[in-house]
Amino acid sequence: MASRTRRLSCIVLRRTKLAEQDLILTMLAASGEEVRAVAKGARRPGGRLASRSELFSEVDLLLAKGRGALEVVSEATLVNAHAKIRGDFARVSAASVVAELACLTCLQNSEDSFLHPICSKALACLERACDQRQLDLIVAAYVMKVLAHCGWRPELTQCISCGDAEVSYLSAQMGGTLCSSCAKDVPGARRLERSELAWLRALITSTFDELLAAGPDPKTSSALVLLAHVWATTQLDCRLRAYEFMLSS
Ligand SMILES: [Zn+2]
Repeated sequence: MASRTRRLSCIVLRRTKLAEQDLILTMLAASGEEVRAVAKGARRPGGRLASRSELFSEVDLLLAKGRGALEVVSEATLVNAHAKIRGDFARVSAASVVAELACLTCLQNSEDSFLHPICSKALACLERACDQRQLDLIVAAYVMKVLAHCGWRPELTQCISCGDAEVSYLSAQMGGTLCSSCAKDVPGARRLERSELAWLRALITSTFDELLAAGPDPKTSSALVLLAHVWATTQLDCRLRAYEFMLSS
């Protein structure tokens, strides 16, 4: 007989109210799959599961097949609460963007070993970011890395239209950089500073630690988080509410 339980390591990405005291947790499993499960009593203050099902937490779970379509959390152990994110408005806003993108880029029954470690790393970096400039940089890097990995890697080395190596515009619609002459024919193409182009490439190719050590100026950092937003909404073809909220606050 097939086992009715399984053990999983997950990051909690979304909490949806269910009944009076329960939650549906949407999570990113270590395998890269999206997992949804019912956490009974998780909304009861002081309840056993309440503190082990907080947003952005990394947890080890024992899931049991329930009577409904969703599995039920029967045991939960907190592995990393990413506690420094909580209680800090700017960190929570940034972590919410990471969770939003993670939700949109993982699928049920589809393994991808890239997704969980990078989400965990981004959350850890958000915990120790010193200022908004670093929060912006981490969000932009996470978004560009995950989208590039999932098949939406921008062309950033040549003009996507004519192949010219001298590029100075970006068009999310076209999928990458453009030379100034091709950009004239592309509505919405945005002029890029040289440093922005170099940073955009680095967001995808450098590690979070390298990016944080190099540290762009605040103006470049906020330009990058805006560029990553345009890239994400265009490629995923949807509104990103948490991302909009972060940009507006
Ligand atoms: Zn061109």
